Amino acid sequence: MQPSDPDNVTCETCKANCCRLQVLLIDDNDVPESMTDWTDWGGQVMYRRDDGWCTAVDRETMRCTIYARRPQVCRDFEMGGRECLDERNAPGNE
Ligand code: SF4
Ligand code: SF4
Repeated sequence: MQPSDPDNVTCETCKANCCRLQVLLIDDNDVPESMTDWTDWGGQVMYRRDDGWCTAVDRETMRCTIYARRPQVCRDFEMGGRECLDERNAPGNE
């Protein structure tokens, strides 16, 4: 895949690639507890299902089902930023 042009990046053309990253929760009290998990080192994170995506992703639409209550890490993730481009361009991602 060709590197994405940051100016043309939109989540509309992405299969929620960033929602396969580990999402650490820090004072994210509004996130449903049932969607969270604990790591071996004691951190609370968004639960990821066997397919690798965060459990909050709607598998039909690939949209976040808790968008208004999403964790701060997700709010801070910059569309078109370096990490976004890295995920979009990673082998196997769409
Ligand atoms: S990786 Fe970037 S373009 Fe894809 S869903 Fe996340 S923020 Fe949007
Ligand atoms: S909480 Fe929503 S935005 Fe954050 S990783 Fe999960 S599905 Fe993506």
